[in-house]
Amino acid sequence: MSTAFPVSPPLARRMAALRSSAIRDLLAVTARPDVVSLAGGLPDPDLVPRERIRDVTARVLHSADALQYTETAGLRSLREVVAARESVRLSAPVDAARVVITHGSQQALSLLAQVLLDPGATVVVEEPAYTGALQVLRAAQARILTVPLDADGMRVDRLADLLSAGERPVLVHTVATFHNPRGVTMSAARRRELVGLADRYGFRVVEDDPYGELYHGGPPPEPVAAHFDRVIRLSSVSKTLAPALRVGAMVAMPDVCAAVELVKQGADLCDSRLTQEIAAELLADEPWLDAHLTGLRDEYGRRAAALRSAVARELGGVATLGAIDGGMFGWLEFVDGTDADALLPVALDHGVAFVPGSAFAVEGVDRGAARLCFTTNTSDRLEDAVARLAAAHRAPIPG
Ligand code: PMP
Repeated sequence: MSTAFPVSPPLARRMAALRSSAIRDLLAVTARPDVVSLAGGLPDPDLVPRERIRDVTARVLHSADALQYTETAGLRSLREVVAARESVRLSAPVDAARVVITHGSQQALSLLAQVLLDPGATVVVEEPAYTGALQVLRAAQARILTVPLDADGMRVDRLADLLSAGERPVLVHTVATFHNPRGVTMSAARRRELVGLADRYGFRVVEDDPYGELYHGGPPPEPVAAHFDRVIRLSSVSKTLAPALRVGAMVAMPDVCAAVELVKQGADLCDSRLTQEIAAELLADEPWLDAHLTGLRDEYGRRAAALRSAVARELGGVATLGAIDGGMFGWLEFVDGTDADALLPVALDHGVAFVPGSAFAVEGVDRGAARLCFTTNTSDRLEDAVARLAAAHRAPIPG
């Protein structure tokens, strides 16, 4: 008698709601050398401070401790430097005890879902949404409601409508600054309105902020967390130093920090001590960091301008590009009825990739938009990419 299962035993029910991220799937295609990719949200590898990281790594490795396990909440020196930097951004003292280091801010989202959400809990996200948040929320079997965005970020009035209609979300997730994928930033007035609602209705706000330091003109409005100490604030070094360090930081109330630390013990014991040591050194060297960030802001600002003028030149009358004040993304909207999903395979044939707006949809599928990342490629390559996109747009769409 055979003991082998004819079919695999079933997966957990929560897996039914999960889909692969269209963006992660697309990244496999866009790795082709003949494709200029505006798809991934990647820093330019040439602007990642590789030599500096190599030098710091060599120094850090003088101590054998760098290769040891460390505290679950994160390396003390890193939590302290994060607390100091967050104190400046929030214009209020942040104690290192309120900082938990996570394996990128993505892990913070995942751990927060575990500690805050029972199956069926209501969560509000912005639409179009950050797909990484959607994946976490679907895995947590949350009930996801959406609020649209406009040029001033989340339509907080629409959130107020949901609340007036009796909805009682456990939390509201916002990428308030340089939104992924829309590029927009929530105005200071709306930030205050949002925390006013959080206070009145007792929901938590997760301010997911990996892009806030990458501004082009002046700095963005004060973080949402500056207006209310019950906001859970997530930041990351992925876009400013290097994604491979996998260092994110959560600033939250002590009860949330303790709960996240508890589930993190089960998730991974602790983050890599080596990369935490490296991040701590880099963040603590203020003159170096300031110069590095200024360099990134200037260069990414030039690239955003290059993208804007290329779109005006090549796609004028066909598509408009939303305002870009920082971050990594511009939101292209076709005004001639082009279906971005149908355009994508043609664009790939022309050697350019983007993410169609539908990849970020929760309810309303917007097929007339595309997210363009302007940070990975140089200005010249961006101009070339937009010319290829325009050629793809002129080509007949098969079928
Ligand atoms: N939040 C948002 C809004 C993001 O765009 C990203 C990265 N694409 C993350 C979180 C996760 O970043 P990381 O885990 O690298 O810190």
